[in-house]
Amino acid sequence: MWATQNKKTFMLLSGSIIILLLIAADLYSQTEILKWKEGKSSCVSMTFDDGTINQFKVAMPIMDKLEFPGTFFINTGYFHGSKHHPTFVGRPIMDILRETETVQATQDNVFERTSMVRYLRDIRNVPEINAYDMQRIGSSLERGRYERVCRMVDEICDTLRKTNRIYEAVPTSISTDQDGATWDDLVKYSEKGHEFACHTISHAHLSNLDEENILYELIKCKDDIEDHLGYRHTLSVECPYGTHDDRVLNIAYPLFPFMRNSAPEDYIDEILRGNSRTPGKTDKEYIQWQRGPLSGTPYSEMTSWIDTSIHYNIWLVLVFHGIEGIGWEALSTETVQEYFNYIESKEEDIWVATFQDAYKYIRERMNSVVYETVDEGAMAVEVSNELDKKIYDIPLTLKTKIPEDWEKVQFQKGNTLKVINSITEGEHRYVIYDVIPDSEPVRLLKY
Ligand SMILES: [Zn+2]
Repeated sequence: MWATQNKKTFMLLSGSIIILLLIAADLYSQTEILKWKEGKSSCVSMTFDDGTINQFKVAMPIMDKLEFPGTFFINTGYFHGSKHHPTFVGRPIMDILRETETVQATQDNVFERTSMVRYLRDIRNVPEINAYDMQRIGSSLERGRYERVCRMVDEICDTLRKTNRIYEAVPTSISTDQDGATWDDLVKYSEKGHEFACHTISHAHLSNLDEENILYELIKCKDDIEDHLGYRHTLSVECPYGTHDDRVLNIAYPLFPFMRNSAPEDYIDEILRGNSRTPGKTDKEYIQWQRGPLSGTPYSEMTSWIDTSIHYNIWLVLVFHGIEGIGWEALSTETVQEYFNYIESKEEDIWVATFQDAYKYIRERMNSVVYETVDEGAMAVEVSNELDKKIYDIPLTLKTKIPEDWEKVQFQKGNTLKVINSITEGEHRYVIYDVIPDSEPVRLLKY
């Protein structure tokens, strides 16, 4: 629904340039909200999934030196001290199992049963059903292959009944004694500007779960993150395995303003990880291009993503997993170091931003209106939008056309007073400056 609303706003803003008042004919001006912060050509968000230790021990120190903020999608169940642990939410397991004796699996009851099976197999490690692959079941459900899944679920429930054990849903700790990061570590990392984000409690393939259990995995993950790291780290989410399952995403959308699984705005052309399309010209205002370097990805391909993002003004969302032998498809320390240095070498053109900051900038820009007034030789510029200020708090970069003889400009905003240099492009003169929407107006004067 919000995608439609955004489309309307976009049409109204028509490229986000609005001139409401032009009083003095010889003081013609216009303000544009630049596509990316500080007028950079592109934006790169460096995102990391699963919170494996070398993301923090190897990749993060390199990023800190280069002052790159990252976004880390974590599974809260793997951290000691989390309040919430994976479980099965719903009717007593034995009631469900008894029912399976007489009622076969159907599309109507299958999600309750797959939720239960996922809990017993993945969290309680019931050995008799270990051979079943929950990821395959989840993928089949995403594709609507109910018949196949129902057959398999009937078989699994038969097996479970035959164990003659009593099963109960108990929140079960999955944190390990392996060398992992602690909540205290994450607090320190977040203070350096890194973003933490929800990746569920237990890395569940959410397509296997019914609504109650999906909500449990997402909301309780968010709860623990808020408790330990604060509200700012509860805004982004990635549902595991990069799922595009509409049923899952429709449940997750209302809980998180920023979701990496999908960018539903119709002003964003999204090319997700599984899509091999090469970005190029598009009639949409933004392109979100997700690329995940794997252990076998040629280095030249990795650098070409950066170059392409600059060329087409793209939002490149890099998705990293394993680092130096730990985690899925791990990259070596040398590759990470070299790649991050390469990004740094292009910093004049690239805005490196957390996932939430990049998304905030885009939505703020697409939803803002610029008001300009001219009064006694000064220009007043205000930016306003209807977005929730608790979430949307990052400055937009404005570029205002000023009269030809304004070489230096006095910039006044609240208690801030400074002199900024103008720039010349073609025949016109401009100033570039940052403004947080709905803060005090900016006053520009010839210096
Ligand atoms: Zn993951």
